Amino acid sequence: MSEQNAVVRPTIFELLSGYRRSFEAMQAWLDEAGLAADERAGIADAWQAEMEAWFRERGYCFVCHRPVERCSCS
Ligand SMILES: [Zn+2]
Repeated sequence: MSEQNAVVRPTIFELLSGYRRSFEAMQAWLDEAGLAADERAGIADAWQAEMEAWFRERGYCFVCHRPVERCSCS
């Protein structure tokens, strides 16, 4: 029975809507924080790296949105 080993995985649509919420929250925070452009870019980069890890932990590739086992990104 393959059911036994099935991992509960969110759909890519759930991940993408979570991503969008996180992006909006990050943008709103940056707008309020009044940071310089280079500081904003640094925080946006760090956030992006976090999102890549977040997607991977849930079984998806951040770049192509495929399940990791079907991803052919480097
Ligand atoms: Zn990929």
